[in-house]
Amino acid sequence: MGTKPTAAQASLFPAKRRRLASKKPAAKSPAPLPRPAGKKTWLSATGIETMRRCPRCFWLQYNLRIYQPEGIVSRLANRFDGVIKRYFDLYRGTTALPPLVAGQIDGLLEQPFQEKYFATIDNDYGFLGKLDECVVRSDHKYTPVDHKTASSDPTTRELIPAYQFQLDSYAWLLEQNRKPTTGIGHLIYFYPSEGEKLHEGFPMQVTVKTLPTDPSRVRPAILGAIAVLRGPLPAAAPECPFCLYVETVRKF
Ligand code: SF4
Repeated sequence: MGTKPTAAQASLFPAKRRRLASKKPAAKSPAPLPRPAGKKTWLSATGIETMRRCPRCFWLQYNLRIYQPEGIVSRLANRFDGVIKRYFDLYRGTTALPPLVAGQIDGLLEQPFQEKYFATIDNDYGFLGKLDECVVRSDHKYTPVDHKTASSDPTTRELIPAYQFQLDSYAWLLEQNRKPTTGIGHLIYFYPSEGEKLHEGFPMQVTVKTLPTDPSRVRPAILGAIAVLRGPLPAAAPECPFCLYVETVRKF
């Protein structure tokens, strides 16, 4: 999705050709699929991230339901998410946080937990979010939490900007649904550790990162995304290998 090509990909698409591709004007814009009567298009933080990487891919997904081929994708993260959520659920409604994060987070797990939040933007568009977890402080303020399975040590790597927007959007959705927020959000990273006694249990490094949240960034981002969807089909991101591949093989 709009990522920088690898060295191997770059050699397939020399710099000159990449420049030419990026300057190619957008083809005549197709018409979006008709919206079923009374139905809204629901945007999400993931959708906004797609738009930031490539407005054309975003437009094609939301207006024509055309998606990039998925390829071979690991479902291991889904399994992790399920196991972690069931572990957290053991502490819901109790006076304690899960020991994995106790002492690093202020509050208790929301009980009952509301996972999905919706906010209407206008007659045609809304915004939705699905929280992994939510913590409620003693002052009745809410902190969104997202679980991340990490393939590199989260203590040594920079924050991915999309994660900041994800937490901002969860805070905004909570506020829109009359749940005042604490001004922070937590990312809980789960990263497999090295160990000489793996046979006794696989060690997992758990890292809690706490970020300030800014819900005021969210509505302008949503309105910008809607403006893209209401406009013509945007040009392709200049260095995405997928569109360059299509453009290249079309010549043969
Ligand atoms: S350049 Fe093409 S394939 Fe790549 S993200 Fe954009 S629309 Fe999708």
